[in-house]
Amino acid sequence: MMIAAFEREPYLRELEVKVTAVAEDDAGPYAVLSDTVLYPEGGGQPADHGYLGAIQIVAVQRVDGEIRHYLQVAAATGPATLTLDWERRFDHMQQHTAQHLITAIAADELGWETTSFHLGARSSDIELDVESILDADLRTLEERAAAVIHEARAVTARRAAPEELAGGAIRSRGLPAGHEGDVRLVEIAGIDCNTCGGTHVATTAEIGAIKLLGTERLRGGTRLHWVAGARVRTLLAAHETRAAALRAIFETSDDEVLHVIDSKLARLQHAERRIKRLSAALAEETARRLDSSAGIIVEAHFDGADAQFLQSLVRHMTALGTSRACLLTATSDSGSFFALHRGADSELDLETVGGQTANLFNGRGGGSADLFQGKAGSLERRPEAVSLLEDAIGGSSR
Ligand SMILES: [Zn+2]
Repeated sequence: MMIAAFEREPYLRELEVKVTAVAEDDAGPYAVLSDTVLYPEGGGQPADHGYLGAIQIVAVQRVDGEIRHYLQVAAATGPATLTLDWERRFDHMQQHTAQHLITAIAADELGWETTSFHLGARSSDIELDVESILDADLRTLEERAAAVIHEARAVTARRAAPEELAGGAIRSRGLPAGHEGDVRLVEIAGIDCNTCGGTHVATTAEIGAIKLLGTERLRGGTRLHWVAGARVRTLLAAHETRAAALRAIFETSDDEVLHVIDSKLARLQHAERRIKRLSAALAEETARRLDSSAGIIVEAHFDGADAQFLQSLVRHMTALGTSRACLLTATSDSGSFFALHRGADSELDLETVGGQTANLFNGRGGGSADLFQGKAGSLERRPEAVSLLEDAIGGSSR
């Protein structure tokens, strides 16, 4: 089998190829090429993107022993220029080589084996066969990786006979079932030798930097998240933008911002508890005032109050034994609300009156035989709602 260009020359960005076959499957139209500089998804590394002539290549997959380049629109057979999205590829090379390095140091210096690798769009992760990781060990891992990056060690790939694997010096997560023929070995000089079909940078210096982000525990193992290469700067820039916004909002420095947020939250909680107490006292006092008001019904509107306040009012009026029916409305930042209560020992058909009131308010509601409450679209027709309830009471008392 021919070794593809992305493996022979991982830094090659453009290649003159022949489109040998075009077809379509569930994933869309695709082309099979005489050779390719585009890496097909595999081994935790996502597929490359690029162009076949002027046609965008959106995915590359190995299917039935061939490499399918999935295209935005169908292509024709014949000669074409294949171009690699180099920025995306180099990022993948940085993340992937970083993974080899982290895996090697984790195994050799901390005794943790890597059981899986995932190269994500923003960060990447590996799973390690250790139940939990101490912060001090993470620091050791990160410092050691930084040192090897600084040493600019060569990263090379070669094909070898499978028997070479038996020696034990080669780190391998095992060959795919049914693998035949030689294997590809990727070596970081003096650090690691591993079976891998992916693309890698030429020296550890090209990884740039590795920042470990954090861990999470999962089914007996630990997932370790990290970024490498240009992603370290992208992430730092995002953090700095957010830090600047926080400094501006809270008018303080990075050193003080957490303390300022903590104390503001504590004051907010204190204020909320105070508002709750005052609202309860206000509801009780208001209920008493409404109970002794004049009129055949009780009706009142409250600006800046919510549905909860209306419910609290009704509870207090029930406790006071208010016998008249009442219509209460309120408007707050979260909208307008209404509550109808039919009063103690009343025979009023509240469901019907409630439904009609909800219609007048262009809203909706529901409740029990004694209490109907809801949200109002508009309280413009409130006077009509008052008359409606008064008429209903007049009717039911006749
Ligand atoms: Zn690799």
